[in-house]
Amino acid sequence: MIPFVDLAAAHAEVDAEVREGFDRVLAGTAFVQGPDVAEFEREYAAFCRTAHCVGLGNGTDALELALRAVGVGPGSEVVLPANTFVATAEAVARAGARPVLVDPDPGTLLMDPLAALQAVGASTAAIVPVHLFGRLAPMDLLLHAGVPVVEDAAQSQGAERDGRRTFGAIAATSFYPGKNLGAYGDAGAVVTASPDLARSVRLLANHGSERKYHHETLGFNSRLDTLQAVVLRAKLRRLETWNARRQTAAARYAELLADVPGVVLPPQPPPGEHVWHLYVIRVPDRDRVLAALNDAGIGCGIHYPDPVHLTPAFRHLGHARGDFPAAEKAAAEILSLPMHPHLTEAHQHQVAAALREALH
Ligand SMILES: *Cc1c(COP(=O)(O)O)cnc(C)c1O
Repeated sequence: MIPFVDLAAAHAEVDAEVREGFDRVLAGTAFVQGPDVAEFEREYAAFCRTAHCVGLGNGTDALELALRAVGVGPGSEVVLPANTFVATAEAVARAGARPVLVDPDPGTLLMDPLAALQAVGASTAAIVPVHLFGRLAPMDLLLHAGVPVVEDAAQSQGAERDGRRTFGAIAATSFYPGKNLGAYGDAGAVVTASPDLARSVRLLANHGSERKYHHETLGFNSRLDTLQAVVLRAKLRRLETWNARRQTAAARYAELLADVPGVVLPPQPPPGEHVWHLYVIRVPDRDRVLAALNDAGIGCGIHYPDPVHLTPAFRHLGHARGDFPAAEKAAAEILSLPMHPHLTEAHQHQVAAALREALH
């Protein structure tokens, strides 16, 4: 068996540190808002090379609260890619706004900035580029659109361009266990250079309250657990190394798969801009290839089988098949191969051999 991700191997590296941290939390009993949360927030803001981080309950809440903090609400529209995890669109809808979808760049599958600008109208309250698969989306044009940019950085922890790791007004991330920086349960965060946006999110996430029992605004309960903060602090210390190993593994896949007929490799990004949360190739007859790899004991995935507009939960947007052709074509061809920091060269050779066999 070649697993798609290997959370056990990652845990083995931090086991002692995590147990020691858990013991400290159990002894101190500060299960919510304990000192490890504030420490992690400081460390993660520094990692993102920005001023503020607010730890939250999960990545979807992080997106929703970031959107609310920049003023998204009922009556407004938010521009986002049609090809993303459903949570990006869910967060927009939960904030009360209408998701306005755009077709991605057919090569990179990242948000097409020109398409995004064309979708901006009088009611647009935010643009949400998604750093899909771990690769930074083009940002320059979006940052000059005159609308707040809220990054969906759930898959791109550590990706950088020109020395920067965050670009918009605020970025939301997820620490779901399988993400590059994964907790042992649900967790998420926002990062921002703006003290006002950080304060707004913190307020919203804590019952609209900065002072106990003084509630300034209608809020939510979405705080980062102290135990999760312990895990995240231990793993954050390894994240640069782990991302570098993903980059090495991606370069190796590119070599091993270069001459496999039918395989379209992910386009090569500028150095540092991709942290390879997922290694996504495109193949003809994808479902048959996926089944063949699974039969060979290789864990694979499809990220994601349905674009947002063809997802039943978003039927009400009124779209039909054909509305976002690049997203639809990609959904039929994409295949995510095993990718994680502990992937061995031997396993990559086996994956390449199985692919060659499936496509010959
Ligand atoms: C994981 C993910 C989310 C949601 O994060 P959760 O922590 O699962 O709520 C949002 N957007 C993208 C692109 C993701 O990959």
